[in-house]
Amino acid sequence: MPADSRKSEAIVIRQTDFSESSRVVTFYTRDFGKVSALAKGAKRLKGAFEAAIDLLNQCQIVFLHKSSTNLDILTEAKLLSRFRATARDVHHYYAALYVAELLESLSEPMDPHPHWYDAAAETLRLLETTADFRITILRFQMRTLDELGLLPDFTQCQCGRLVEDNDQGWSMWIQQGVLLCSECRQIEASTRPLTGRVLMALRLLQTSTVSLAEDQTPSSETLRIIQHLLTALISQILDRRPRMLAYLKF
Ligand SMILES: [Zn+2]
Repeated sequence: MPADSRKSEAIVIRQTDFSESSRVVTFYTRDFGKVSALAKGAKRLKGAFEAAIDLLNQCQIVFLHKSSTNLDILTEAKLLSRFRATARDVHHYYAALYVAELLESLSEPMDPHPHWYDAAAETLRLLETTADFRITILRFQMRTLDELGLLPDFTQCQCGRLVEDNDQGWSMWIQQGVLLCSECRQIEASTRPLTGRVLMALRLLQTSTVSLAEDQTPSSETLRIIQHLLTALISQILDRRPRMLAYLKF
């Protein structure tokens, strides 16, 4: 391999046409973070990369890193697994596109987060197999905030008061990403009201890794409140709402 050649596992998170025959493919790579690479001949039926670089596929890629520009050159792509959109319904496909959007919009080139990559790969696998995408997506959003160092502490207020199940009057100060008890609530700040019950459900989703028993699964209303909270935090970082949110039905 040439000296500037790099190899990594990657997820295809974006595709754009570049010329009559070529595409620019954006990957989230396990070892290098976000990489945008020119895939020459990718639009030809029998191009060098065949169908390895379709959106949401996981592949092993080799690319030439060009430090002078943002665009690298893709030299090899071998398919590891294909995301099967038809395995479930269209909502699972939208959810997978949302995962790709979060990786694309919240990552930087050449800034690797291997745990985030692993979480994304696992999320895509779960979206193929689980009947309900909601808990899978809530967990991925929490993992994403955690990787960015922006996941709030959902267990206590800054004053030290711990959340309890029957508590009322909690709120999340979105701009600061901090949880406030009823005593510390900032009237003038943009906050979201939360109950102890919702916060306990959120903690359960955050800390449990296996699928929840039926009697542990939060109600649809609770899942919706948690989704609103997490997307408010993500939108605050992005300074806009992620596009795919319009298609995710919670
Ligand atoms: Zn407090």
